[in-house]
Amino acid sequence: MLSVQNYNSEQIYSTLSSIFGFHSFRPHQEEIVRAIFQGRDVFAVMPTGGGKSLCYQLPARLMEGVCVVVSPLISLMKDQVDAARINGLRAGTLNSTISADERNAVGVALRQNRLELLYISPERFNSEYFIERLKTLKVAFFAIDEAHCISEWGHDFRPDYLALSKIVREFPDVPVTAFTATATPQVADDIIVRLGLRNPHLTRASFNRPNLFYRVTMKQELDAQLRTFLARHQGESGIIYRNSRKKVEATAEMLQSYGFSVQPYHAGMSDADRHAVQEAFSKDECPIIVATIAFGMGIDKSNVRFVVHADLPKNIEGYYQETGRAGRDGEPAECLLFFGRQDIAQHLRFVDEIEEEYARNIAKGQLRQMIRFAEQNDCRRVALLQYFGETFSEQNCNGCDICVDFQQQEEATIPAQKVLSAIYRTNESFGAIHLVDILTGANTEKIRQFRHERLPTYGVGKDKPKHYWRTVIDALIAQKIISIEEPLRPILKLTDEAWSILRCRKTFMMRKSLEYYPNKTKGQQTASIKIPSYEVQPFSEHLFAKLRELRTEFARTENVPPYIVFSDRTLHEMSRYFPRNTEELRQIHGVGQHKFAAYGQQFLEVINEFCEQNPDETNTWRNRQQLPSSPKTSVKSPLPSLPQSSSLSKLPELSSPLRSSQSSTFLETYRLLHQGKTIDEIVTERQLTRGTIISHLEKLSESGMEISVDLFFVPERLAQIRQWFRASGETLFLKPAVEASEGKLDYEEARLARIFLRKSISVDQQ
Ligand code: ADP
Ligand code: MG
Repeated sequence: MLSVQNYNSEQIYSTLSSIFGFHSFRPHQEEIVRAIFQGRDVFAVMPTGGGKSLCYQLPARLMEGVCVVVSPLISLMKDQVDAARINGLRAGTLNSTISADERNAVGVALRQNRLELLYISPERFNSEYFIERLKTLKVAFFAIDEAHCISEWGHDFRPDYLALSKIVREFPDVPVTAFTATATPQVADDIIVRLGLRNPHLTRASFNRPNLFYRVTMKQELDAQLRTFLARHQGESGIIYRNSRKKVEATAEMLQSYGFSVQPYHAGMSDADRHAVQEAFSKDECPIIVATIAFGMGIDKSNVRFVVHADLPKNIEGYYQETGRAGRDGEPAECLLFFGRQDIAQHLRFVDEIEEEYARNIAKGQLRQMIRFAEQNDCRRVALLQYFGETFSEQNCNGCDICVDFQQQEEATIPAQKVLSAIYRTNESFGAIHLVDILTGANTEKIRQFRHERLPTYGVGKDKPKHYWRTVIDALIAQKIISIEEPLRPILKLTDEAWSILRCRKTFMMRKSLEYYPNKTKGQQTASIKIPSYEVQPFSEHLFAKLRELRTEFARTENVPPYIVFSDRTLHEMSRYFPRNTEELRQIHGVGQHKFAAYGQQFLEVINEFCEQNPDETNTWRNRQQLPSSPKTSVKSPLPSLPQSSSLSKLPELSSPLRSSQSSTFLETYRLLHQGKTIDEIVTERQLTRGTIISHLEKLSESGMEISVDLFFVPERLAQIRQWFRASGETLFLKPAVEASEGKLDYEEARLARIFLRKSISVDQQ
């Protein structure tokens, strides 16, 4: 057994800062890390974005042996491995999608005890052979991610996860840690029992997500409301959930026709299509996805800035998990729910089809809770946390429509009296739709049937549109002035409060804001737009846009999603604090030593160039902002210190693309190549991605280094690839060539081939 003394605080904090680039732990991370160092089993429930990966990655770095990570989706493992590698962790995966070369390389690294993290899928534990091989290695501990997949009670049950109960039996001396964001106690118990965890260290983090803003708005004219919302979130990435495939497609088409860059996603699409959409989303190529709830699990994209529910979710748990996909990076993000009572009927039809009475009642109860959440007038955060058994004690959360809009009330006693009197005169036996028809003087069959056109209240609300009256009614419900005894069959009844208002003993106040309502009277779609006032720290949008471009460029060369290069939070901090030199940049959130070495100089160059061109803006920001506090223990960077960028700009311009800190990394690749290593071996040895190594080769070649084509291609293959490039003219663009090959050429090989084709073409032209 390990003892905690082996890992002192100094080591832990310095790893946190030098590898991950973080100044402090998020809640519970440190206690979990320490439990792992003590050799204990761990069971941790932390919300999405809580930072579960770090809990096992940090110990994996320091402990002897490999940490075996079980993760449910092979399709997303590459992202996880790339993200770890970009932080400089030695990570690899063994699954069916990797090349034989890479598999060999990972095998070698494992045997030589050089790997820190091995990502695998659960079904591996069905293989005796795999288990026996694993036993020959030093395994530091197991980390089971998305552990709720082992429970049939959970919503993501995967039979493959059942094989994981073998781990404790087969590896009795190795600690097992399990992580999930699923909160129900039933699932939690189930996980512990099925995995056979031994007196585990238990952690249950708060489910509060302080950077998420919750808002509920009446669904009136959804299409227009969505467009208004998206217009306000230009350039940002987000998810719009709809509750049927048909609606997903309709909404995606509608938005596309208005020029928004959106893609649909639902379970009816082919695996390949779904994968493509997921990837485009991760890589910021398609910022907005319209999806059913089939979309989201395992997508670690950290810069999702909004999640919209365009239909009522069927329960609070689902709503919470889906909204939770916003703002993992800790930066502000918005969660908007469009609530329309028409959705209730649709849910009820599904619920009524549930055969087992017990299950049906549970589903009904959950739907009721969801409706109450949407229509109530209390802090949304308090209500959500209450659902998870947590109390939130602050008076004003400053992060939901109720708390923020509280200031903006207006008196509406007379409209309220009109509504209440309509309810009274119809014997408290109708729902909102009919009452609005009465108030606005509609001529419907129901009105004629009940002779409601003779009521004194008929048409007294003609001067206002229908949606205004819906808003008044909803506000009256929220303030419990009218009651609905059964949320699933909403007949409106008067309470004592209602009588006080009817008798003019009390006034009625309601929220003024009608966010995202198309303004009908002016014939145009405007909305009263309110930016949530909570914790939004300003940053220079101009610089941010520049940095984002650079990030995309790096992401493209490395073939990883941009948020893996640097999170939004990191770029926001750069555009807030304007770091001008190495030391300042290292204080920015998320700039660990590895990322610093790979990208630091280029980011500094962009910032410095921006500063020189925009001295006024720079001064304003530099004067206003102080760099965030340094890490708890000051850490000397183990890297040789690089020239400061301000002095760099005075150096004579180097003509070769091999200037800057990157040259040594290119040369290292070159050296290994000349030792006869294959690309896959270099990938594993250097713990970089294939895309990075290929980009090194590109740079080396551009700078005139000789790279032998024979290492990569037999002449016939290169000739074939040349044909595909030719099919699209002599442009040497990748996409047309890959498309022309009809699946026989992938992007990486095309890029590799282009290095040599470029040369031969320029030779041809001479
Ligand atoms: P989870 O798996 O719990 O949903 P992740 O492990 O994906 O969360 O982490 C979410 C985000 O939080 C990532 O972008 C990660 O880099 C960031 N993060 C993790 N730990 C910290 C920390 N101590 N300080 C700042 N950011 C952190
Ligand atoms: Mg995770």
